[in-house]
Amino acid sequence: MSTHTERYQAALMNTFGPPKLTLVRGEGAHVWDADGREYVDLLGGIAVNALGHGHPALVAAVTEQLQTLGHISNFFASEPQLALAERLLELLDAGPGKVFFTNSGAEANEAAFKLSRRTGRTHVVAAQEGFHGRTMGALALTSKAAYREPFEPLPGEVTFVPFGDEAALAAAVTDQTAAILLEPLQGEAGVNVAPEGYLAAARRVADEHGALLWLDEIQSGMGRTGRWFAHVGVRPDVVTVAKGLGGGFPIGACVGLGAAADLLQPGNHGTTFGGNPVACAAALAVIDTIEREGLLEHVTVLGQKVRDGLAADPRVTEVRGEGLLIGLTLSEPRSAEVFAAALAAGFIVNNPTPDRVRLAPPLVLTEADAAAFLQAWPQILDEALA
Ligand SMILES: *Cc1c(COP(=O)(O)O)cnc(C)c1O
Repeated sequence: MSTHTERYQAALMNTFGPPKLTLVRGEGAHVWDADGREYVDLLGGIAVNALGHGHPALVAAVTEQLQTLGHISNFFASEPQLALAERLLELLDAGPGKVFFTNSGAEANEAAFKLSRRTGRTHVVAAQEGFHGRTMGALALTSKAAYREPFEPLPGEVTFVPFGDEAALAAAVTDQTAAILLEPLQGEAGVNVAPEGYLAAARRVADEHGALLWLDEIQSGMGRTGRWFAHVGVRPDVVTVAKGLGGGFPIGACVGLGAAADLLQPGNHGTTFGGNPVACAAALAVIDTIEREGLLEHVTVLGQKVRDGLAADPRVTEVRGEGLLIGLTLSEPRSAEVFAAALAAGFIVNNPTPDRVRLAPPLVLTEADAAAFLQAWPQILDEALA
């Protein structure tokens, strides 16, 4: 482990701080480190490993596609790319639309940001505590000062409003606004859930001013909440997805619905890898497996149990989230200690802010793994909050 740390520090840029562990293998919701210790992975590569680690359906899909046709350029089409675009539009169930594939979440948002400029407007309204990625455009849409300030000036005119405040949103949007950008659940903030009616209000405000409603479902989409997408009852103009989409294979997508589908025209945008047949085959396997294994229902039921179990301890003052995107607030700002105590007990959790803990485990997390975590939870808190 310490030699891994030394090699890491010598050869990798120090953007993430020192690695917590070196992981060598995974199966289902379990991973093993370089010393052979086993952990239950309740973070899932940050809401990415939807099918857990090493799922046979994903391994087979990627292997077969790589053996058949691994990469082509976007001068050509491939069957996995066509099928995945059609599948995503079906799952969104919001009428006609068109997809632009990328390799990551930030790139999906970059595509959407450029798409929004094709309205002829440049102003965007986004939410405080939102997170949209680290590239210059995505960063311009992300409110966190510590992420932004070292890189200013950033592109665009962006107004940040308090998440969930309908009046503040209505006041910020004007006839010059290209898009309203919101996450249905703000994952990186430690899981803030949009209040009832907020997205519908955003839709009304967007319509009043001719602005696009753009929902970032990069973390909340693809079954994470027990639904294919976290938003319900609202038709967005643009949806961005990534993280869980490829189940660990890098892929993202920017989906334009209705008129927004045709805002980007030939020459306006491009990518070498986006829509790669292997990445698309991986995503198709993820979607098929979520359906075949009934994972949406599983996520709904198990997520409720986990939230109830966590909330039972008085040192947890609030539990938020839906399905298996779960955030909790601690009675003391000791989330780093909770992370360490959980790791020592064999569980990987995440501490996005000093008093918040986030769980985003594989959707295939078993009842037994969840029960083991809930059983260990009081002792983890004893250690961390002592
Ligand atoms: C992770 C995330 C992104 C950025 O995705 P990357 O693949 O890391 O570039 C954007 N938006 C949301 C909501 C995210 O959770």
